[in-house]
Amino acid sequence: MTARIIDGKAIAADLRGKVTDAVHRLLRDRGLVPGIAVVLVGQNPASKIYVRNKSNAVTAAGIRPFDQHLPATASEAKLLDLIARLNADEKVNGILVQLPLPPQIDPQKIIAAIDPDKDVDGFHPLNAGRLASGLPGLVPCTPVGCVRLAKTVHDSLAGLQAVVVGRSNIVGKPVAQLLLAENATVTIAHSKTLDLPAVCRRADVLVAAIGRPEMVRGDWIKPGATVIDVGINRVAGEGGKSRIVGDVAYAEAAKVAGALTPVPGGVGPMTIACLLLNTLRAVCAQNDLPAPNF
Ligand code: NAP
Repeated sequence: MTARIIDGKAIAADLRGKVTDAVHRLLRDRGLVPGIAVVLVGQNPASKIYVRNKSNAVTAAGIRPFDQHLPATASEAKLLDLIARLNADEKVNGILVQLPLPPQIDPQKIIAAIDPDKDVDGFHPLNAGRLASGLPGLVPCTPVGCVRLAKTVHDSLAGLQAVVVGRSNIVGKPVAQLLLAENATVTIAHSKTLDLPAVCRRADVLVAAIGRPEMVRGDWIKPGATVIDVGINRVAGEGGKSRIVGDVAYAEAAKVAGALTPVPGGVGPMTIACLLLNTLRAVCAQNDLPAPNF
């Protein structure tokens, strides 16, 4: 078997196009321009790239960026003060604080300080609780992207065996909640799981969110399964250069899986598209408008 490659880039471009159209309609019909503040603290090179990519996508979608950059030495109080100002600013509908933060700042304190209605990353405990309770709220972008990609393969996930490897608050747990909401039968695996290959082999839908380069081997995959690879791992490549690989051994998996996301070009582009969608959702909820239906 040769897996169908799930083209995250194209699927994300389609979603971004729909968000952009909806943003233009908001301006035409309501005079509203959604705004998002992306907050970067320090000079982490990977974070700088992520923030730049997000800002470019935001602007291209017609969303107004309110980018904020604090020095790596900024105190927790200074960042909390900035969050309070952004919470109070009516032009700012969404707030995203790029993680990781420097060691003097407690990320949990910062996430909890963001107005949950502006929490476009979906990390606030209230939004995590809403997701777990099946209530409407803002849901983390990467997990939403994963499930949207799986649903390009399966019209319905109901009754399928889904295995999520990883239980972080950012990816593993919310993706498991979303799969449960889709009526999949969900197993969450982690570093203490016994016989992980056997657990993975049960999966009709396998989501790898581990952060270990190519850990999931071809013989861990049930023939025909859909594999969503969230991992972004930088490894040494040819000629002293580095390259990015996922958490799944791609070449092996492609021979066994029914469908597979590439890295790069799979989940990554969907994360940004879903951030735009969350910003649109936030502005609609804040203005008592119906949520986007795509
Ligand atoms: P994380 O917070 O480090 O969590 C990793 C999870 O994997 C943990 O639950 C951990 O288990 C589990 N794990 C680690 N080693 C394991 C092993 N040997 N066997 C089984 N489980 C193991 O990472 P994360 O933030 O969820 O991110 C996961 C990956 O996704 C990373 O590569 C990250 O770069 C990538 N990512 C990509 C995007 C995107 O847009 N594509 C977005 C976010 C993250 P324990 O809980 O037991 O420690």
